[in-house]
Amino acid sequence: MTPRAKPRRISILGSTGSIGVSTLRLLEETGGPDAYEIEALIGGRNVDLLAEQALRWRPAITVLADEAQAGVLRARLSGSGLAWACGEDAVIDAAGRKADWIMAAIVGLAGLRPTWAAAATGAVLALANKESLVGCGRALIARVETHGGKLLPVDSEHNAIFQVFNADHRPQVSRLILTASGGPFRGFTREQLTSVTPEQALRHPNWSMGAKISIDSASLANKGLELIEAAYLFDIPGERIDVVVHPQSVVHSLVEYADGSTLAQLGPPDMRVPIASCLAWPERVAWDAPKLDLAALARLDFAAPDLEAFPMLALARRSLAQGEGMPVVFNAANEVCVAAFLQRKIAFLDIPEYVESAMMRAQLPSISSKTQADHGTSDAVMERALELDGEVRRLVRGLFAHDRRRA
Ligand code: NAD
Ligand code: MG
Repeated sequence: MTPRAKPRRISILGSTGSIGVSTLRLLEETGGPDAYEIEALIGGRNVDLLAEQALRWRPAITVLADEAQAGVLRARLSGSGLAWACGEDAVIDAAGRKADWIMAAIVGLAGLRPTWAAAATGAVLALANKESLVGCGRALIARVETHGGKLLPVDSEHNAIFQVFNADHRPQVSRLILTASGGPFRGFTREQLTSVTPEQALRHPNWSMGAKISIDSASLANKGLELIEAAYLFDIPGERIDVVVHPQSVVHSLVEYADGSTLAQLGPPDMRVPIASCLAWPERVAWDAPKLDLAALARLDFAAPDLEAFPMLALARRSLAQGEGMPVVFNAANEVCVAAFLQRKIAFLDIPEYVESAMMRAQLPSISSKTQADHGTSDAVMERALELDGEVRRLVRGLFAHDRRRA
């Protein structure tokens, strides 16, 4: 283990979630509080875990999004001398504080405003919150660059591609190949998917993740979001991004070059590995990482995805091809549907039905002219994405209500 020579100032947006906890575990394993200064820890609702993290790491500011629990946070931190705050504005303020390295790991488009604030700090932005990228696309990337920062993808597939993507050879990149585990319903027919429950959908075979991304992995919406994410991050059109099912989750993704070489990154299915790559970038950090035992694995399997049983992948691809805000519609409709499925208000196969309806009905503002005029980095781009997101959420809830009345 090689602790860093000098402390780095770090903020974690979504520190109480799956990625946030993995990030703090990795910081423990690479030197702990002696090696890092924590600027901000930001959580949504889990006040107990947030307070515990704050007492251990002593951040300059601790923020809980949920204002209703302000009294609890105050009590937990009383006598500690730690500064804290609650509410959405406090989240955005804390996310925009100067730091060297910021982990953006809030889930859903709820993460957009804080991630957008973090993008203007000039920090290395380790981006897990894929919905923000789907919402704002290249504008978010441009914003980071304009402010002198660097965006690094945390998502295991994109982190893999980032590690083997040679930008000098971009014209010779013929294809990006995203791997997908296939989730808990790999091999299921449409018929079998009609009655699956949230409990079954949450039981991912390889990865331990938050609820929303677990459902997305079961429906392949996650791979759809990742396809859009990859198109924006690597500036490669969707037609040149393929998806292959790889149940072992060992090959995290691949870049195919025109000369016939295909480069891949391999690793155990543990998010601390891509997080470690972002943490040390452009160096590498030694830690007690789980290692691959290829002989024990013995085989790696690959298969084409079943687009008929899992229509979300094709819908995401279509939204990317349509552009002009359609990925925002895909994402917003999916978020509302995932929440409704978790609450048992709709069935698993209703998710693609409602998402497709939303994509057909949504009124898209014309965003292209203005986006180009301001180079896509102004707050207006982000506000437009949030506005469209809100409209689509209302539209889908309206469709739910209409169908309930008819039933
Ligand atoms: P999670 O649900 O476990 O955690 C989400 C975090 O965001 C929590 O800390 C929660 O308190 C916080 N949060 C939620 N709403 C908030 C709000 N309004 N304001 C402030 N904080 C809020 O989710 P996760 O699995 O850690 O995923 C986080 C992001 O990373 C997602 O965008 C997901 O797609 C992406 N990602 C996750 C994984 C994984 O292995 N878990 C892998 C790749 C990408
Ligand atoms: Mg992923």
